[in-house]
Amino acid sequence: MTAAVRLDKLHYRYGREQVALHEISLTIEAGECVGLIGPNGAGKSTLLMHLNGFLPETLPLTPAIFIDGEPLCTATLPKIRRHVGVMFQDPDDQLFCPTVFDDVAFGPTQFGLTGAALQDVVTRALTKVRLSGFEQRSPHHLSLGEKRRVCLAGVLACDPKVLVLDEPTSDLDPRGKRELLDLLHHLPTTRIVASHDLDMVAALCSRVFVLDEGRLIASGNTHEVLANEALMLAHGLEKPHSLRHQHPH
Ligand code: ADP
Repeated sequence: MTAAVRLDKLHYRYGREQVALHEISLTIEAGECVGLIGPNGAGKSTLLMHLNGFLPETLPLTPAIFIDGEPLCTATLPKIRRHVGVMFQDPDDQLFCPTVFDDVAFGPTQFGLTGAALQDVVTRALTKVRLSGFEQRSPHHLSLGEKRRVCLAGVLACDPKVLVLDEPTSDLDPRGKRELLDLLHHLPTTRIVASHDLDMVAALCSRVFVLDEGRLIASGNTHEVLANEALMLAHGLEKPHSLRHQHPH
């Protein structure tokens, strides 16, 4: 089966000095939900931004990123942007329309949907995130949890093959967090979640990748990696509460 995401020695530096990613190679299978963890400045956001071509400004001649087998290059960029949906940490970066309907419709409209087909896609996406009936509400007057779900609906409306989530649960109250986790848990799409919330990562992701200083330090079964206290400590992380009762491996 073709991997949903494959990175082959992805290397990136900001400007002339700051190397943010050091030859990262990894593979994520279709349908997997994986976590990307590491301290601040580890390179998580930089890696996520690469997945749909936000970076770099000039794509390298030798592709290092493959989405569903397709190399990311200038020619494939529009197609790959369509296949990789990104949910940003701050919903206010993503929601800019006067109504929830318009926000969710924005992506599919860009891809040419109109009329009844557009209406149908928006209705289905809002149903998936349990926000049916919110179409005419202003996205700016919703709770943070609801805003995140509108963002998720907007991304799902584009039917992505890969869903990229940057800190999806940060600042959510326990109920908002549970509701979002429940939705993410049941999605069939390949999901990549970058977060400091390791209890959430433990609950949601079957595999994790540990990044530090732009290097891929470790990867493997989520519970095994997160229960490795020496590894967690060495990279500015902490074994999550939900695994505290377990002995280190
Ligand atoms: P994380 O998401 O894990 O906190 P980032 O990907 O944001 O890490 O950052 C990785 C490294 O790249 C850090 O050292 C950071 O200072 C640097 N960096 C991030 N964005 C920029 C930028 N726009 N210009 C220069 N350096 C940057």
